[in-house]
Amino acid sequence: MKFADRIARLGTETAFAVSAEAAAFAAQGNKVYPFHLGDMNIPTPANVMEAAAKAMRDGKTGYCPNAGIPKLREVLAADVGAARGLRYSPENVAIQPGGKPTIGKFFLALLNPGDEVLYPSPGYPIYESQIEFLGGVPKPYRYLEGERTFTIDLDALKRQITPRTRLLVLNDLQNPTGAECSTAEREALAELVLKHDLYVLCDEAYFDIRYDGESTSFVSLPGMVERCVILYTFSKKFAMTGWRLGYIIAPPDFVRPLQKIHQNLFISAGSVSQWAGLAALRNAAPDVERMRRTYDERRRFLIKRLRELGFALKVEPEGAFYIFLNVRHLSRNSYALAFDILEKAGVGVTPGIDFGENAEGYIRISYANSLSNIMEGLDRIEEYLKSR
Ligand code: PLP
Repeated sequence: MKFADRIARLGTETAFAVSAEAAAFAAQGNKVYPFHLGDMNIPTPANVMEAAAKAMRDGKTGYCPNAGIPKLREVLAADVGAARGLRYSPENVAIQPGGKPTIGKFFLALLNPGDEVLYPSPGYPIYESQIEFLGGVPKPYRYLEGERTFTIDLDALKRQITPRTRLLVLNDLQNPTGAECSTAEREALAELVLKHDLYVLCDEAYFDIRYDGESTSFVSLPGMVERCVILYTFSKKFAMTGWRLGYIIAPPDFVRPLQKIHQNLFISAGSVSQWAGLAALRNAAPDVERMRRTYDERRRFLIKRLRELGFALKVEPEGAFYIFLNVRHLSRNSYALAFDILEKAGVGVTPGIDFGENAEGYIRISYANSLSNIMEGLDRIEEYLKSR
């Protein structure tokens, strides 16, 4: 069969390639420590599951409105607005089957072939995949490892902007580095957005998973609310990765074409997941706080243990649940290293190269897994390092 040319331009997540290899390795009877995926070992809060069961018992299993059930849109508008110091209404909200669909829809709605898109590198690999798929020109901007955090190379980013640059993707708090933008970085970016008439995808998938202080959204800066589309997801905050529930918050002008795309491709997000999502917003705050403390405990352990193992880990991630580890002293080929660690130590890690060329020489370790597994997995890595 001869497929359309664009299919060859679609990328994937190598994390899933490591996953396939890890599954094959486990099928041979080996224990695998799965630190390559951003999927948590924590179940969805019980009252959220009960709300889903009730929705099914109550017969809420049919089609539901394209942009989502009205109550959920209303509660989300209030909730997201309050956390960002803004006033959103239900017309700003379109419920999605997860966070990821927002990426493709943002580009489908705003990107013409030949348009240039600035996106983070290292960064979530799906941005580049979707830009190329839709005929855009990828312009990866760099994150540099500093003494305390990863920072955006703003000077280089400014030089990358041309009259064809139309869109910016900002992921704050960031996958894979866990970095958060400083106020100065946000202000500099907002200035560029206005100066060059850009539209922004604010990927806030990890907005609420942070270890100190409060998150600030780029959307809260003056002049940004009209230009920003927020991607948000229930996946990470509420341990609901499998429920496929997320949402877009954007100006109503943007939500309307997006709904058309949605109508053509999906109809709506799943009805039962949406009722579960409503319960999560109303009742799950204590569970969310427990999860945050659990991740923090793992994060602290990992940082300490990796330093004991001799890694020069300068940056302590501010949010999300990943450590982005410089492994250049071990190998400059992160893909080969990740597969070697899997084969010899039984530990799954994501190769840095999966997050873009600037990320070669790093691996990502997810601490969405149990502390006991993290402890054992790190012991395995210690043995692996000794045997090299
Ligand atoms: N954005 C970022 C930065 C992510 O890391 C992820 C998932 O890992 C997503 C979006 C997609 O989230 P979801 O599972 O809700 O589709």
